[in-house]
Amino acid sequence: MRSPNLPKLMALGGLVVVASAAACTIMIRMPGESYQGPLPPATDELRALEQELHSYVQTLAGDIGERNLFHYDKFLTAAEYIRSTLANVGYEVQRQTYEVKGKVCENIEAEVLGTDRPDEILLIGAHYDSVQGSPGANDNGTGVAAMLALARAFRQSPLKRTLRFVAFANEEPPFFQTDDMGSRHYAQRSKQRGESIVLMFSLETIGYYSDNPGSQSYPPPLNFVYPSTGNFIAFVSNTENERWVRTVIDGFRQQVLFPSEGAVLWGWIPGVGWSDHWAFWKEGFPAVMVTDTALFRYPAYHTAEDTPDKVNYERLARVVSGMQRVITTIANQRDSAPP
Ligand SMILES: [Zn+2]
Repeated sequence: MRSPNLPKLMALGGLVVVASAAACTIMIRMPGESYQGPLPPATDELRALEQELHSYVQTLAGDIGERNLFHYDKFLTAAEYIRSTLANVGYEVQRQTYEVKGKVCENIEAEVLGTDRPDEILLIGAHYDSVQGSPGANDNGTGVAAMLALARAFRQSPLKRTLRFVAFANEEPPFFQTDDMGSRHYAQRSKQRGESIVLMFSLETIGYYSDNPGSQSYPPPLNFVYPSTGNFIAFVSNTENERWVRTVIDGFRQQVLFPSEGAVLWGWIPGVGWSDHWAFWKEGFPAVMVTDTALFRYPAYHTAEDTPDKVNYERLARVVSGMQRVITTIANQRDSAPP
């Protein structure tokens, strides 16, 4: 038998769908268009960057391998490798140490002082631990490799604002979103010191791309609005950072011929707060995650198969060189808040 309330229920249901769709559209509509079409020919500069990124990922995930508090000697080796890589290009490297379960953990930091506004900081961060049972080539060898390459690129060319490059400890479980995360310690210290972090970029799993239709998935309902081919880089943050996501993706799309998507989402949607940017949000600092969407695209996510051969170094290089341009724009722009 047909319920007499059915039309009413259907109308209500329709209203909810329309309202959610409207809310989603406001948060998802981004300036510019994602680049579609063939990628431009690789320049010598891009090839060199590709080689550089490959060598960082190979050392971290191929030679060193699983690196975390449970593989402590490798964890220390990885930290030393990051320190010496930064020192070799001329940085005075700083360490922030703290203890977890009786073991010393460290964040590693290098800085290029701004020429005009040295007190305003643009922070580029990536976690260097890998999840238990994984060599962590893409998660997060690629993020660390990008951070190191950007640090090298900016070493001799300071911008108006200060650039800070940081490798964080303990992002992965069981420390994920706890007080033992390296980024949590770092962001709390920045808050205590009264530092002005204009924007933090969390470089998180950025090296896997596929041109196959259906290679990209999403937490629902995002699957209805975003592309199903996993060939793009994504800029993700929460609703409080909406203007920053728009500024960043606008800058990327204007300067880089590479597919890109931006998402301003509620922090509770799975994946949105899943990295070091979360720790900066907690202290009230603006932070945006840069990601290939990790588990929503990458079949080897958090497995022993997350090895250096899975990474697409050419596309990773295109993303990193794009980030270099975006960072330059933001670090040189007049206003500290996005327009
Ligand atoms: Zn990760």
